Amino acid sequence: MTSTEASEQLFDRARAVSPGGVNSPVRAFRAVGGNPIFMASGEGAWLTDVDGQRYVDLVGSWGPMLLGHAHPEVLAAVGSAVSRGTSFGTPSEPEVLLAEEIVGRTSSEMVRMVSSGTEATMSAIRLARGFTGRDKVVKFAGCYHGHVDALLAQAGSGVVTLGLPETPGVPLHVTADTIVLPYNDRAAIEAAFAEYGDEIACLITEAAAGNMGVVPPEPGFNQFLSEVTARHGALFISDEVMTGFRVTRSGHWGLDGEREGWAPDLVTYGKVMGGGFPAAAFGGRRDVMEQLAPVGPVYQAGTLSGNPIATTAGLTTLRLADAAAYERLDAASSHLQGLVRDALDATGLPYVIQNAGNMFSVFWGVDAPVTDFAGAQAQEAWRYKPFFHAMLDAGVYLPPSAFECWFVSAAHDEQALSRIGEALPGAARAAAQATPES
Ligand SMILES: *Cc1c(COP(=O)(O)O)cnc(C)c1O
Repeated sequence: MTSTEASEQLFDRARAVSPGGVNSPVRAFRAVGGNPIFMASGEGAWLTDVDGQRYVDLVGSWGPMLLGHAHPEVLAAVGSAVSRGTSFGTPSEPEVLLAEEIVGRTSSEMVRMVSSGTEATMSAIRLARGFTGRDKVVKFAGCYHGHVDALLAQAGSGVVTLGLPETPGVPLHVTADTIVLPYNDRAAIEAAFAEYGDEIACLITEAAAGNMGVVPPEPGFNQFLSEVTARHGALFISDEVMTGFRVTRSGHWGLDGEREGWAPDLVTYGKVMGGGFPAAAFGGRRDVMEQLAPVGPVYQAGTLSGNPIATTAGLTTLRLADAAAYERLDAASSHLQGLVRDALDATGLPYVIQNAGNMFSVFWGVDAPVTDFAGAQAQEAWRYKPFFHAMLDAGVYLPPSAFECWFVSAAHDEQALSRIGEALPGAARAAAQATPES
């Protein structure tokens, strides 16, 4: 067992002044038990906690740290930007450079910067509603788009029913315009559009679902979504807050070939594009984006939007993320998936590993591919608990929930991967021997 004294002390203090001691719920370890570890520093693929223990990091700040922690060139660019002042509330050069970089790489013709993925999806939906003059929004169960009220909806009981609030604090009428459908289910989508087509402002989907574990779209699914929305005059919003710039250099999920048949009307970006700082964006078709104030009537604003430090970090990260970096990332991810397979195969436990590019996750006790949220929930998630803790004790920091994607970085080198490789067999045995009560 590792020492956790300083972490425990900080957690006690944190709980006294913050709900649950955290600023985002999953960090509290409730899904895996035990208390969260407080990190003190990061370098490359490694994190060091406040007790001095080192871990190979497979969370990567939930996706942003594509190049690993404390990349020297990102730090140098940020340091130099900080020395010139941290926020002006005026336009500045770095936000133009970052917007040009995104527009240059992706299908988006224009972008607007915000400070979080939640703001990006919230603003994209407002814009879609303003542009179409319609109210209803279609989303998929198990897709997460930040904590936007209208998107914190769960499916009702019928095939096509209007959403119910997923959390107290969201009024019924706010989710009444949200239609929640099963992911990858073309018939349900056709049915929803047949019934409500001329009231639907937009459909929002994760370009490849990564927030119920990794559940990639079935071949042609995104193209189907783009056709259905176009047929009914609704906008197609591809939420690439997680996938954007993580899975391909071109910014978008999908083999560039697959993408040829479809282009989203609006796209949201976040995580990697902020390089570890609070920066996100939404973008897309020029005619839609020009409905935003001050050009058009749809209001949207932000005190720190496009701020020079966050945009400098994002720009530097994207510029460093060249083809070679993605190759390293993909190779590290494939190698790691192979190590997980070897360890789990040795136990005989059924499992499925699913990936979307270099993002992947494990579904426990499952023997067929998972295509939607019901499938993801049917896994034996309790097996993850002992697995997670065995890995943690062996110096590997995994996401503290079975329903999260594992993130590698371009800094996951042989040394980092071999630490994981040594930890896996024991952790896999712990998962195989677990019982639902343990
Ligand atoms: C993380 C995430 C968001 C929310 O971004 P925040 O910066 O946490 O608000 C939205 N959509 C997707 C797909 C995400 O993975």
